[in-house]
Amino acid sequence: MQSVPRLITQFIPENYNLSLVIDRANRAFSGTAVITGVSQPNTTSVTLHAKDLTIESVHIDGTMASFEHGEFDALVITNDSMLSGKHIITIGYSGTITDSMHGMYPCKFEHDGVQKELIATQFESHHAREVFPCIDEPEAKATFDVTLTTETGVTVLGNLHPTSQTTEDNKLVTTFATTPRMSTYLLAWVYGELHSKTAHTSGDVEVSVWATPAQSPESLDFALEQAVKSIEFFDEYFGVPYPLPKSDHVALPDFSSGAMENWGLITYREVALLADPKTTTVASKQYIATVIAHELSHQWFGNLVTMKWWNNLWLNESFATLMEYLAVDAIHPEWNAWLDFASNESILALRRDAIDGVQSVQVDVNHPDEIASLFDGAIVYAKGARLMRMCQAYIGHEAFQKGLQSYFTEFAYANTEADDLWKHLSAASGKDIANFMNTWISQSGYPVVTLTPDGVTQEQFFIGPHEPSTQIWPIPLNAESPEDMPALLDVRKLAMPIADTERLNVGDTAHFITQYPASQLEAILSSGTLNELDRLQLLHEQTLLVRGGRIRSVELIPLLERYKDETSEHVWSIIALAFGELKKFVETDELAEQKLRTLAGELAEANYRRLGWSAQVGELEDDTKLRSTILSLMAYSQQPEVLTHIDGLYASGIEQIDPEIRALVISNVAYRTPGNSIVDELLSAYHSTSSADLQQDLCAGITSVREAEQISRILQAFTDKSTIRSQDLFRWFVYMIRNRYAREQTWQWMKDSWDWIEQTYGGDKSYSDFPRYAASGLATNSQRTDYKDFFAPKRSQTALTRTIDLGLVEIDGRIELLERDGDEVRTRLRER
Ligand SMILES: [Zn+2]
Repeated sequence: MQSVPRLITQFIPENYNLSLVIDRANRAFSGTAVITGVSQPNTTSVTLHAKDLTIESVHIDGTMASFEHGEFDALVITNDSMLSGKHIITIGYSGTITDSMHGMYPCKFEHDGVQKELIATQFESHHAREVFPCIDEPEAKATFDVTLTTETGVTVLGNLHPTSQTTEDNKLVTTFATTPRMSTYLLAWVYGELHSKTAHTSGDVEVSVWATPAQSPESLDFALEQAVKSIEFFDEYFGVPYPLPKSDHVALPDFSSGAMENWGLITYREVALLADPKTTTVASKQYIATVIAHELSHQWFGNLVTMKWWNNLWLNESFATLMEYLAVDAIHPEWNAWLDFASNESILALRRDAIDGVQSVQVDVNHPDEIASLFDGAIVYAKGARLMRMCQAYIGHEAFQKGLQSYFTEFAYANTEADDLWKHLSAASGKDIANFMNTWISQSGYPVVTLTPDGVTQEQFFIGPHEPSTQIWPIPLNAESPEDMPALLDVRKLAMPIADTERLNVGDTAHFITQYPASQLEAILSSGTLNELDRLQLLHEQTLLVRGGRIRSVELIPLLERYKDETSEHVWSIIALAFGELKKFVETDELAEQKLRTLAGELAEANYRRLGWSAQVGELEDDTKLRSTILSLMAYSQQPEVLTHIDGLYASGIEQIDPEIRALVISNVAYRTPGNSIVDELLSAYHSTSSADLQQDLCAGITSVREAEQISRILQAFTDKSTIRSQDLFRWFVYMIRNRYAREQTWQWMKDSWDWIEQTYGGDKSYSDFPRYAASGLATNSQRTDYKDFFAPKRSQTALTRTIDLGLVEIDGRIELLERDGDEVRTRLRER
């Protein structure tokens, strides 16, 4: 893509004084932006960003100037006389409020039977220009003075507290305190009917959690406690106190991503912030705690110190993802956050990063539009976090923390690039971090290290078709017996005797996987000395090696059988995942499928007896969480006793089912119940609840149906925004395309509805999720051809190119695997 000019090179803003009158009823706003800044010497023009704004007048230092719109959202302002040094640009303009979930947009909700709205903003990555003319680049930091005129009777929130609030002509005028120097993408406001709870940190930061009146006051408590503790943790960890006097956390009914770290005013999806103490599951609480920690870490990483340009987006996101776990582990040691890291981030990263053509963590960004395709969560967030953790392990926790502290001190309120961080981490550790990390950050993919009795080899690991690779990495081997192995493997091959019990990447802190000789794996697995993380890691690595065609899928069967006495929830999440790898082989073979169901029952049996159907008083949260995994496998086994129990639970009413097992109960019933009435019943329950948690469970449930007519009925609801919010459609789509009975129809729906998809999601980073998720389900040669043909003309859209290319490789990999291993797996199952 053509590189766009950086506007900061010709005008450096210092302060924006924004005064906006918001006319919600007419979906419009109008206002004045007074921008003080320094222009380059000897010029007659200044260029700002403005998109979809109607510019009414422009003055420079009080004198009228002319203007015109140019390429790449440019607003070119021309002055009669020469400009140089500091000037004040005053712009009168108007704009519109649209449903697109960026810029300024409405969030709809229902309370006591009345339809209501909040107004919110979303400016990352380059949507501030849709609300005011500005230099919309992260490096263009300035202070902001914001005044909003709204309807009365609402709560108005901004980055800082209001300094005044008055009523004029039956309108509410709110002026906020001046912000610190910050990037445009972090500015925000929210207004509407909201209620809150407030607490203070030990450093006296005022922390509040907000939601619409459709949500209960108790549902704010958990988030409030997490937010306070997270700020206290980061205050200490970063050694620089939280930079603002307040920290607001707002749950928005409509929100495109999970949450957004606007400075002092973090916005969330409801499901990422609200926890009704009566119905929230352990998994939801853990999710909420990590999202809050993630966004709060951004108040330092991203907001206080900001990447210079979007190519270093990972500086924000990889770190925030690492910090989630660091903070949650400190606040909730009982949750074993690092095991979650191994089962969440590592899986995401290792699966995606093995596809040929995947991006590297750090990647060139010519235009912010490209960010849509670069926001690949599995890479920028998950892999990046794994690399940061590797760096942390490589230099030690103390040096890592010390390096970050001096980094924040030097660059507060400024912008940085990767090398600025490496410099501080190098100084703190005495190691050459730039050399070590730049290879990992700039190369895509990761290595598999192969151990043999006479040596160790590294090569790039792939899933699916790929070009040959000569890449190598400096790999911290983290051997079980470090005295026998080099600390860093930075050559392709090293000949040396290897003990037959040697294990690598102990602690799973480095970004590689290991392939052991079969006999060695056997010895390791039966050693009896493996901890939870080891067991999880080893099993996960085998599933990857299977996908990569380096071992055969059939070997997963005896391997899984070894794990049936496992009691760790974290390990079980991988057992369930590995078991899922086998399901795709039996879709067209009834007998083999029956045998696989039997295997599921055998694997889960011991824990099923141990845990039963409901929580025991005082049981470990791990067990509470594990129950749903075990019961899902039991439900899959279709044992009559289990199905009868599920029917009984469902008959007692959805609201009565323990939320921990609700999704699996609904989904199992939907799977077995023919006819449309079950779909209608569940869709109507979905429509009428204001609980985002319950909606998620209902979505997982309804999408398990098998009949063509049931499936059509669900697909009809896809474009009905009054039932399924735009923000939630992806979940529906991905469940349906992975449901083998619904796959073909859902794929057809996507093709038929593409214009609607483009209209609704084009311009948002979620747009590329459609080709991405479609590729995660399609599995036959004809579907592959269809995918290729359908997306060929769309490949030219920057936001889709990479996703489509990777999608094809992913489908190819799946077809290859099914053809290579299918017969053998089915034969082995049939013979069981
Ligand atoms: Zn983030």
